[in-house]
Amino acid sequence: MSTASAGSNVDASITGLRVQLAALTRLLHKEGILTYSGHASVRIPGRDAFLIQSINDSRAGIEPDNFLVCDLDCNVLEGPAGDRPPLEVFIHSEILRARPDSQAVVHTHSELAAMFTMLEGIELALMKSHAHRWASGVPTHPDPSHIKSSKQGKELADSLGDHFGALMRAHGGVLVAETLPALLVDAVHFEENAKAHYQAATVGKINPLSREELEMLAIENNNREQHCFKLWSHYVGMGFEDGILPRDWNEKLWDSVDPNAQP
Ligand SMILES: [Zn+2]
Repeated sequence: MSTASAGSNVDASITGLRVQLAALTRLLHKEGILTYSGHASVRIPGRDAFLIQSINDSRAGIEPDNFLVCDLDCNVLEGPAGDRPPLEVFIHSEILRARPDSQAVVHTHSELAAMFTMLEGIELALMKSHAHRWASGVPTHPDPSHIKSSKQGKELADSLGDHFGALMRAHGGVLVAETLPALLVDAVHFEENAKAHYQAATVGKINPLSREELEMLAIENNNREQHCFKLWSHYVGMGFEDGILPRDWNEKLWDSVDPNAQP
């Protein structure tokens, strides 16, 4: 097993992905969306392979060099000697295999996501403006066990279907996006939406966004690249200020972020 190094990698796009994945992981940990568990991955362009953290690396302080390169059968192709991927790596391999439109996946053990899989007669509703992202639906994967095989990963990918997010019964959820910055934005908005549903339900009967309202919001918020740039800038800037992210990562944090959206 070879030792990967972001610094020595000749493919600049992969160096950028390593830095972005480390930043996303640290920032989602700061937001409480990733904790001691949960993980994100990103497809390596032009290869049937992806970057994912190892089973034991802390989400709070992960480094770009820490990530493993795995193929879609979850063999480790590159990475620090002795490291192995998370037990649930099959979530990522099978969703990336099933969804060529998606380049990045996050799996969380979000308490709110799990809660909405355990309520009789109540499903997660779309309550916030940016929740139009999930207007096609948020299916619930019915198997409450951890995803520890390619078979289980395929079943989860089947449950996700063509949607952009799914809940996992008594477990958490998964989201897919086209870039890592977009994935961070979706993870934040998904949690905000679940929180909004929960908060509204504590006050009274909920009145979620209608299909017509969601369609209107999708039109109104049609500049996803600009929105992702805005929020990525916000969270990265906050990460620098708080010392969550090293400032020397800055140069590599903007690969795949729409350059036209930058100031
Ligand atoms: Zn899990």
